[in-house]
Amino acid sequence: MKVTKYHHRAQFADLDALTARIRDALAAGDYILGPAVERFEERFAAHTGVAHAVGLNSGTDALVLALRALDVGPGDEVITVANTFHASVLAITAVGARPVLVDCTPGDHLMDLDQVDAAVTPRTRAVLAVHLFGQALDMDRLGAIADRHGLAVVEDCAQAVGARWAGRRVGGFGRVGCFSFHPSKNLAAAGDGGAITTDDPEIARRVKVLRGLGQRAQNDHVVRGCNSKLDVIQALVLDDKLDRLDGWNARRAEVAGHYARALAGTGVAATPPAGQRHVFHLYQVAVDRRDEVFEEMTARGVEVVVRYPVPVHRQPAFADLGLTGSFPNAEAQARGTLCLPVRPDLTGPEIDYVLDVLLAATGHRPRRLVAG
Ligand SMILES: *Cc1c(COP(=O)(O)O)cnc(C)c1O
Repeated sequence: MKVTKYHHRAQFADLDALTARIRDALAAGDYILGPAVERFEERFAAHTGVAHAVGLNSGTDALVLALRALDVGPGDEVITVANTFHASVLAITAVGARPVLVDCTPGDHLMDLDQVDAAVTPRTRAVLAVHLFGQALDMDRLGAIADRHGLAVVEDCAQAVGARWAGRRVGGFGRVGCFSFHPSKNLAAAGDGGAITTDDPEIARRVKVLRGLGQRAQNDHVVRGCNSKLDVIQALVLDDKLDRLDGWNARRAEVAGHYARALAGTGVAATPPAGQRHVFHLYQVAVDRRDEVFEEMTARGVEVVVRYPVPVHRQPAFADLGLTGSFPNAEAQARGTLCLPVRPDLTGPEIDYVLDVLLAATGHRPRRLVAG
């Protein structure tokens, strides 16, 4: 059996209807921004529970433009977590600010909020809060820390679209929420795409100016912006999928529940389901001899991945930054975890096969809990 990490075809309910809309858009010739993008922006803002969403080229651009809209720049420090994806730290450096890393916790591998408090200096302007793997951070605690120090919170929601903390969606807690619609993410475009969300009309306005080469009106360039606009084809694809996102996320949590029950007591540390807090973009397990387990599972057709094998503070691209500090939990996570396929359309036999292969690779007997 082969169990892949993505199955993009399964995400289209009515591919003919969608391609008809794309064909119309191609014929009409309005390819960038316009009514289709505005419609998606409005529906995505409503889904997130905020007043404004602004469609962009990528999640990376969303992070960069969020920081720029908040005037974060040279001389400022931004706190983020050492086991995040490269783009979170890259965005901080792209605006000229200094990334300050904190470790993750050993349990859920999310940003250690006690360390955030301790990392604040007079130069700290913002916390880049990463809802890593699809799990919402404790936004009550983080909000209290940010308020106490007068910091802006920017949420990196790239892996957590649809996740909730205390009933409210991520992307609606900070000054700005940043989303990616890269094809690997839970809400996937047919190419690159991203968005910011905010309740602040001034931030939405600024990001719109920045994404359009800094133009306030045509030929009136008021800031040095960039070119980062969502295109119509991506907006049509995203708009088509948005209604099914919550169902997919619920199904991912179900798959996670099967994994967690089957792995209980085996010594493989598995992530339990966490209600609406976790949308399981990735399903992490911690295993001994990770690289061998990875090789064996790959050889038997299970597409496992490691997110991320080299933590940001050891990436050559950041060598000049002196990202000092001790991040033992991020190091352990990079060394000892892998991610199982957790696509919403996984079948019972596929879930059982993943478990069989994982348990065999980690020296356990198979346990069938899903398929009859
Ligand atoms: C994917 C991702 C990004 C970047 O998104 P792109 O759309 O690929 O630019 C940023 N942060 C995190 C945590 C991500 O997983």
